[in-house]
Amino acid sequence: MYIDTHAHLTFPEFELDLPEVIERAKKARVEAIINIALDDEAVKKSLQLSKDYPDYIFTGAGLHPHEASQWNDSTYEKFSSLAKEHKLIAIGETGLDYHYKLSPADLQKKVFRSFLQMAQELDLPAVIHSREAARDTIDIIREENKGKLKGVLHCFAGDMELGRAALEMGFYISFTNNITYPKADLIRAAAKEIPLDRIMIETDCPFLSPQVFRGQRNEPSYVVKVAEKIAEIKGSTVEDVALATTGNARRLFFPRGDRR
Ligand SMILES: [Zn+2]
Ligand SMILES: [Zn+2]
Repeated sequence: MYIDTHAHLTFPEFELDLPEVIERAKKARVEAIINIALDDEAVKKSLQLSKDYPDYIFTGAGLHPHEASQWNDSTYEKFSSLAKEHKLIAIGETGLDYHYKLSPADLQKKVFRSFLQMAQELDLPAVIHSREAARDTIDIIREENKGKLKGVLHCFAGDMELGRAALEMGFYISFTNNITYPKADLIRAAAKEIPLDRIMIETDCPFLSPQVFRGQRNEPSYVVKVAEKIAEIKGSTVEDVALATTGNARRLFFPRGDRR
């Protein structure tokens, strides 16, 4: 069994055939999907999905660093009341993305800090996105950690300065199907170094299809491809990778075993 720990099922790419997509995920032995919602509309849709597929689709919510400028006075209240009503299982994604800098870096940092504070206040894991921003990501996690911060670095790009710091701080590290891309040596080297008891897997769909389906829409059933690649890199079995990564995801996202 697998858990796709990061999907975006409310994107228009899934509008026409989501039931079939979910069916394929179940057939591929994906036992749960954590859907990441990044605006009001997506949160609304995702909470509906969590109702339509109980004990299967779970909702995490935040603001992508690209949209940090959407943060306003009501944002903190909005997310924390959803969480207090037990509708969210994670805060995020949040973090820093200096690749496109679609929101100013200073604002991204401010919003990132607020989300990390919120995650601790609510005792929820933080789903962290960090792209070309390793140093600042490390500093902010260190500074904001009041001892209760837990979370995952999602879509890990292979920068082991960030990776080692995250491991030291007790974080999990999550790999997507970009680990299957020919040029992804850095990511594969990271997967070799990071111990299996700290690794999670995700699709980040509809983005980042595995190499064999590259250019097409990605979907949760393809999370198996991430596990297969990690097994190959580590010289272990896919079953071992499935067991370990699913156990890790359960520990982080369902610490009280309250999923079932
Ligand atoms: Zn991301
Ligand atoms: Zn994402």
